[in-house]
Amino acid sequence: LLRPGCRPSIRCHLYRHSSTQSQNWAGRPFDVAKDNVAQLAASPRRPLTLTDLLKYAPQDHGMKMGITRLTAPKLRHGRPPLDKEALLASANFTLSLLPARLASRIQALRNLPYIVVSNPHVSKIYHNYLHSLSTLLPYQQRRITTLEEENQFGDVLADLVQTHTNTIPVLARGFLECRKYVSPADVTSFLDTHLRARIGTRLIAEQHLALHYASQPIGGNSSTTPGTPAPKNSIPPNYIGVIDTALQPARIIRLCEDFVGEICELKYGVRPSLKIGGEPEATFAHVPVHVEYIITELLKNAFRATVENGNQREPIEVTIAAAPDVPGDHPPTSGDNDNSNDTGFELDSEGDRANRNEKIGHSTLSSQSITIRIRDRGGGIPAEVLPHIWSYSFTTFSEDDFQGSENGNMDALNTISASGGNPSSIAGLGYGLPLSRAYAEYFGGSIAVQSLWGWGTDVYLTLQGVGRVD
Ligand code: ADP
Ligand code: MG
Repeated sequence: LLRPGCRPSIRCHLYRHSSTQSQNWAGRPFDVAKDNVAQLAASPRRPLTLTDLLKYAPQDHGMKMGITRLTAPKLRHGRPPLDKEALLASANFTLSLLPARLASRIQALRNLPYIVVSNPHVSKIYHNYLHSLSTLLPYQQRRITTLEEENQFGDVLADLVQTHTNTIPVLARGFLECRKYVSPADVTSFLDTHLRARIGTRLIAEQHLALHYASQPIGGNSSTTPGTPAPKNSIPPNYIGVIDTALQPARIIRLCEDFVGEICELKYGVRPSLKIGGEPEATFAHVPVHVEYIITELLKNAFRATVENGNQREPIEVTIAAAPDVPGDHPPTSGDNDNSNDTGFELDSEGDRANRNEKIGHSTLSSQSITIRIRDRGGGIPAEVLPHIWSYSFTTFSEDDFQGSENGNMDALNTISASGGNPSSIAGLGYGLPLSRAYAEYFGGSIAVQSLWGWGTDVYLTLQGVGRVD
């Protein structure tokens, strides 16, 4: 089969998203030649560490950049001015990481059968990556030395993060359309690698954006000079960039319960109740947007099963347990497996789990883990379904109107809004469990599903803390 990499010349002239500012500073639009991508993708990458990511972010400059629709406050809260050198160093550090990661994804997309990359949806994602790489390369080559350049870079980065928001539903649609040409195992393996790599890439970009925005005065825009004194505001001082060092899972569970309850009621006209037991006060350090994603997906599954099983009177029981923080007793982080050079996001530079407590700024970070058990009376999962629940695109859901149609879960995809994802659908994409597991495993956590067929399901979600203020 022909591969897209064999096209005579692959050049990216797509500048539709880039701001004129970035073009002015960066000069002319930058072509990403085929060789350039291959070279970048092959460049050795050292493992990224949590320390790396946090070292430019003093604790009192954090902000809630990592929180999405449920918990989102205003994004541009002012903070005390950020140290200029730290901001520039963070920008250049970000630039030292992103191009190789993007190139590696471009390379992986090119290695798919040509018929798959020719699919309009997959091709769209492919071109988004090319575009992002072509936008970043000029910055990487010149380095960022002034606050003005950092401002422009911040705008470009925000634009790129936005461009890639839709990746998952668009890729899902593309792969569904190509399902005759690739085996489910190949799709799952490609998506698993791709989506895990994406988690890391977005973390890197969002971490810098958090600092970038933190350097803006309240009500300011990104072309305002950072360093302008900003009034104190009401953000709790527990954010380090995108990490909430005092994240309370019970709070996120309640927010997700409201959200999932609403879509459940829209779909079925009823919603089950939810009880939280165990240690609802427990807090640890994690990336709120990751926890929110996972809990939303697990609750959707539990709500749907409960209602479809006619058991909406039975509450869903959520039990929260905080593990004692035992040094040296942590599972390894998996990070992303973007390529073998890149062990992804590691919690330690030395890989020594025994010494994971780290001094960052004035905070001691440790790695308390929290396990959340979600128990539903939804009837459990039949034995013939169980082996498939971790496959991307596997679902037992289909809209009533389309039942029996050959479309399968295309129907769920058809309702995906242009703004990305279809958060208002209770199920149907078949990405809930596998992607939740990718998020959980990113920082060394796990998800286990225990089905009691004929009765209900227990899901154990363990999340490894990524740092805690003592
Ligand atoms: P989706 O919800 O879009 O179908 P998921 O990956 O979230 O995709 O789940 C895959 C399948 O696993 C579901 O379609 C359902 O058959 C099964 N499943 C997941 N969680 C539960 C649960 N709590 N109870 C019963 N079945 C479940
Ligand atoms: Mg689901």
